[in-house]
Amino acid sequence: MTEALRLDRVTAGYAGIPAVRQLDLRLAQGEILALLGPNGAGKTTTLLTAAGVIRPMAGTVTAFGRPLRRRLEQNAHAGLVLVPDTRGVFHNLTVRENLALVRGWRAGLDRTLELFPALDPLMSRRCGQLSGGEQQMLAIAKALTGRPRVLLIDEMSMGLAPIAVRALLPSIRTLADRLGAGIVLVEQHIDLALSIADRAIVLHHGRVVLTGTAAELRADRHAVAEAYFGTS
Ligand code: ATP
Repeated sequence: MTEALRLDRVTAGYAGIPAVRQLDLRLAQGEILALLGPNGAGKTTTLLTAAGVIRPMAGTVTAFGRPLRRRLEQNAHAGLVLVPDTRGVFHNLTVRENLALVRGWRAGLDRTLELFPALDPLMSRRCGQLSGGEQQMLAIAKALTGRPRVLLIDEMSMGLAPIAVRALLPSIRTLADRLGAGIVLVEQHIDLALSIADRAIVLHHGRVVLTGTAAELRADRHAVAEAYFGTS
């Protein structure tokens, strides 16, 4: 499989203070990597660094076999797309208007609605009148219209009821399988994340404390709990 994203010995943070240290990460096309860890572990910092929003203090980020470009939109054009945890949808606009903000949206619309058919009857509705789960679906749909090859998804279940998360997560698996997109998924619901991921990394205090296949981590909950709450 083609390597979609690669972080080598990356140290990154804010105002010269590292929030992640010496991080190695590999992501293949079509693969879902769950990025787990307690609050403040460095998950969002990792995603922002992978997307080129934060420049690493040390180490390298490589997407599709070449170093990240300096300008964010160049990386976005190459297919590296960040879905922020703030959802990135405009409440005063309708679903259609939100989708129309993305360049080339018409070409991708049919495919987007095929993947998220629940959005079709909502196209004329203002986003402020959507449920949290529907808004999240729209945020991912917006990212899809840009034809991503790598999706970096931050806490998409934030503020959602578990039942809404359970309904949404399988569509992420579909994106990886059908589009061949590589996906890094930051997720608080560990079991749900592991149920759709191929592999997982657990961060604690900015360092990788556990990695494995999703099946390995599902089978060893003790190791996962230790990685979350242990002192390592
Ligand atoms: P959460 O699950 O709570 O969102 P996280 O694992 O995504 O946490 P980060 O948001 O990456 O963690 O934060 C890692 C560390 O960097 C924390 O100590 C946090 O306080 C710090 N940090 C995050 N954003 C900033 C910022 N803009 N300026 C300074 N420090 C920051």
